[in-house]
Amino acid sequence: MSNIVAIVGRPNVGKSTFFNRLVQKRQAIVDNVSGVTRDRHYGKSDWNGNEFTIIDTGGYIIGSEDAFEVEIRKQVELAIEESNVILFMVDNQVGLTDMDKEVAQLLRKSKKPVLLVVNKVDSNKNIDDTYEFYNLGFEQFFTVSSQSGSGTGELLDEVVTHFDQGDHKDPFEGLPRVAIVGRPNAGKSTLTNALLDEERNIVTDIAGTTRDSIETLYNKFGHEFVLIDTAGMRKKGKVSEDLEFYSVMRAVRAVEECDVCVLMIDATRGIEAQDLNILFLAERNRKGLVILVNKWDLIEKETNTMKAYEAEIRNKIAPFNDVPILFVSALTKQRVHKTVEIIMEVNENRNRRIKTSRLNELLLPIMEITPPPAIKGKYIKIKYVTQLPTRTPQFAFFANLPQYVKEPYKRFIENQLRKHFNFTGVPIEVYFRQK
Ligand code: GDP
Ligand code: GDP
Repeated sequence: MSNIVAIVGRPNVGKSTFFNRLVQKRQAIVDNVSGVTRDRHYGKSDWNGNEFTIIDTGGYIIGSEDAFEVEIRKQVELAIEESNVILFMVDNQVGLTDMDKEVAQLLRKSKKPVLLVVNKVDSNKNIDDTYEFYNLGFEQFFTVSSQSGSGTGELLDEVVTHFDQGDHKDPFEGLPRVAIVGRPNAGKSTLTNALLDEERNIVTDIAGTTRDSIETLYNKFGHEFVLIDTAGMRKKGKVSEDLEFYSVMRAVRAVEECDVCVLMIDATRGIEAQDLNILFLAERNRKGLVILVNKWDLIEKETNTMKAYEAEIRNKIAPFNDVPILFVSALTKQRVHKTVEIIMEVNENRNRRIKTSRLNELLLPIMEITPPPAIKGKYIKIKYVTQLPTRTPQFAFFANLPQYVKEPYKRFIENQLRKHFNFTGVPIEVYFRQK
């Protein structure tokens, strides 16, 4: 189940302005914590409790003027393939252009819902200018001003009606869903083959020869899960130039759809910004996480190589670094079986439920000894803790003055939870609420 909204349209219509408006507030908070530069082209947002990922497809287009049409075509094709709802944005100040008509033409092939969004309608007196956009052949359109935010609410009300309601039958219902993600050439296809023991996929040396995302049942050695496969052979011709773009879109969707995300890193390259982006996305989506340092066979090893490598990764992915890191070779199948065991363990951790009595017995004394620091002479008393009935581990702490509990103390609590229970590879949330 995934909710991905893609914004398409020719350059300068305001896609990135609109994108920033939707993700800004939430993203900024997390950026401050980690200090890592984030990919600005996809992010999480929500509307009335409906979480979704929004992608500014234009952010990946770096073509010259001549390459425009090719680029736009790719952008649209990809949006059609990978998203659930497409926002087709046009510019009311410039008016209807030929390029808009071409984009509309491409979008007509889509079976996905396409919403026409007329941007830069900054005031009501501009509304009259918008009628020409009916020429694009859409029954209705939405007028917004990305700059002021007006019209966004009506648009999002419509967007969320097209989201996956989870009412269709899933043939793999109840089984954990595992996605293998990583940069082109990290070894995703090779690992998939190693797991499934068959040469279903043609693995080549050319970076990014990827198949469409498909699902395969893994059922061996007493373990069962669904592999969401983003690697593999893609239809010829589409791939070459925009590797990053394609692989990012794939990864975004796979992360959305999985329970456990297996991030593959090429040991000869180390962890890169793009890897951190995926990792961050998985964390934001509260997915289980396993890091594989692949091609370990290629690394010259001394006594401390693995330890040092691991320490460096943990440092880079902090604060969420209670994550399994395995050094594997998909090619020689070294630790591939171990990988499966760890995936299952992380999935189990993600489903872990701890009895309220146990939580209170353990944590209340700890919080008694180390309470949150008093603020302005006011003492914070935590009375009660319970795990929420959510799909992923979330804990509510009831206190007299919950608003005074700051981030460092939440982290302390999270660490206590991690110390006493196995939540390795799983993001957990700690909330403080009014008693
Ligand atoms: P993109 O290429 O489609 O991502 O377009 P941008 O988001 O970069 O916007 C292009 C230009 O249009 C920028 O100068 C924006 O400030 C401006 N712009 C975006 N949205 C609005 C809007 O709602 N009203 C007005 N007046 N200008 C806008
Ligand atoms: P993908 O793009 O992530 O699917 O990567 P592939 O599985 O296609 O692998 C890219 C290249 O790396 C291929 O030439 C593989 O044979 C090679 N490769 C993958 N895993 C390993 C490994 O563990 N060790 C070595 N030496 N090469 C590997």
